[in-house]
Amino acid sequence: MLRIDCPWCGTRDETEFRYRGDASVSRPADASPSDAAAAVYERANPLGWHREYWLHAGGCRQVLVVERHTLTHAIQSVAPVAPLDSSVPAPSADPADREGGGA
Ligand SMILES: [Zn+2]
Repeated sequence: MLRIDCPWCGTRDETEFRYRGDASVSRPADASPSDAAAAVYERANPLGWHREYWLHAGGCRQVLVVERHTLTHAIQSVAPVAPLDSSVPAPSADPADREGGGA
């Protein structure tokens, strides 16, 4: 099981999160319909480090960019995409401030 270190809630089980797709894909601005469809539906199956979107559905409901190794499932980094709600405080740089946080 993955353990993801949410910047707002601390380290939580994978069951609280929902995978939201490949974070390394961007849709071309002036793409033809077939290129746009390819950007949406065609995915690589990389071996190694991969950037992914994860939604903390069972917690703060923020979208995170998780860099995960597809073979070992080791997580190298977790970062917020952007605060979705301005009332949510920014994550603390000090990990000690996050311990025991969240509900
Ligand atoms: Zn969270």
